[in-house]
Amino acid sequence: MAEFYHSVTLIEEKCVGCTNCIKRCPTEAIRIRGGKAVIASERCIDCGECIRICPHHAKRARHTHLSRLSDFTYKIALPAPALYGQFNNLDDIDYVLNGLKQMGFDDVFEVSRAAELVSEATRKLMVSGKIKRPVISSACPAVVRLIRVRFPDLCDHVLPLKSPMETAAAMAKQEAAERTGLPPEQIGCFFLTPCPAKVTDIKMPLGIEKSQVDGAIAISEVFPELSQKMDHLETVETIANSGVIGVSWATSGGESAALLNEKYLAADGIENVIRVLEEIEDERIGELEFIELNACAGGCVGGVLCVENPYVAKARIQRLRKYLPVSQNHLMGGPIPELMGWEAGLEFSNALTLSADLKQAMQMMVDIDSMEEELPGLDCGACGAPTCRAFAEDVIRGGCEKTDCIFIYRKQMQKVADTISKLDGLKQFSKEEKKD
Ligand code: SF4
Ligand code: SF4
Repeated sequence: MAEFYHSVTLIEEKCVGCTNCIKRCPTEAIRIRGGKAVIASERCIDCGECIRICPHHAKRARHTHLSRLSDFTYKIALPAPALYGQFNNLDDIDYVLNGLKQMGFDDVFEVSRAAELVSEATRKLMVSGKIKRPVISSACPAVVRLIRVRFPDLCDHVLPLKSPMETAAAMAKQEAAERTGLPPEQIGCFFLTPCPAKVTDIKMPLGIEKSQVDGAIAISEVFPELSQKMDHLETVETIANSGVIGVSWATSGGESAALLNEKYLAADGIENVIRVLEEIEDERIGELEFIELNACAGGCVGGVLCVENPYVAKARIQRLRKYLPVSQNHLMGGPIPELMGWEAGLEFSNALTLSADLKQAMQMMVDIDSMEEELPGLDCGACGAPTCRAFAEDVIRGGCEKTDCIFIYRKQMQKVADTISKLDGLKQFSKEEKKD
């Protein structure tokens, strides 16, 4: 297996090397090399920002195609709560769930059901006082990856619970195996995903050895057929089994509101997320107990694989909540079920570390500082790096040449020209002297 799998990839022939994406990337993972964008695998967190910003549609998110359903005898759809925000005037979730069955799924297990259980488990964990405060939600995989790459000191603040998607898959498979008698390998669970980070999370999960989800299909891929099926339903079977608590996870603030604890903060959009993480790192958010962070603006409804404007989708979720009970899924008393917990803590990634040898890393830092002083500080991107600082780091790491900076190159050329003209002057002078 490759060391890294990423949903976000480049369509090389469409890339014109315009540098728009390099400045948007929160982990400075993109460089322009040979006139094309190149993504450093070890740095990318699959947030999808570069997909959003590219004016040439040269970035895309790989996801599972509907044709994969045929690999399994029994197929279960796991709709993300964000899916419900894609439909106008939706007041009954069952229309969506029945539409999915019409599309060829044998069963549907709402991720919002599992979200209600995760909310209860989080409440229990918070009361136990076993995790460092403030506790940071682990629901957005792009945020969790960002923490392990850029904020190593915050790894032990991350909530060690599986995401609602993962919990839903485990429960759905268990229930289906009992009901059908089929072996687990013949039961396929497909998450209907709003974002590429979830696609990556299934292939390379954090906190658990192996994902129970067999594929992540983009909401944008199912949307056209699903809408059409929903318009032609003859009967609507009652399947929906979740409430406001679970469905609200679709938008920013939904997860934290379910904790029934006022000491929380919910931030969305990658730049706000980074700002909040920096504040936690600097210990400036002392009074808060829970931090919900979503890489996408508006929460999951803002994922690049959704079809609707995030704010419209948010308003629709708000409206849908009026028709739902508060919650329909509860944990029994006793400890949190094992299937809901992480198998291992979050470990930091050394993708941004200069060297494993501290002495060498410090020397490199000094070299980067002095290299940066030679640069104009314009962050123009002409060198292919997002900032002059990132370029200096690339040079010291050996990834490119100092002269890839147009200003340094010009200075060097100027020096050569000056030397040549000085030599010419000297030659001329000695010729004239000889004549005299
Ligand atoms: S934004 Fe990035 S991926 Fe898109 S064309 Fe420009 S350099 Fe290429
Ligand atoms: S997906 Fe996000 S982290 Fe990855 S290259 Fe694009 S902007 Fe950077």
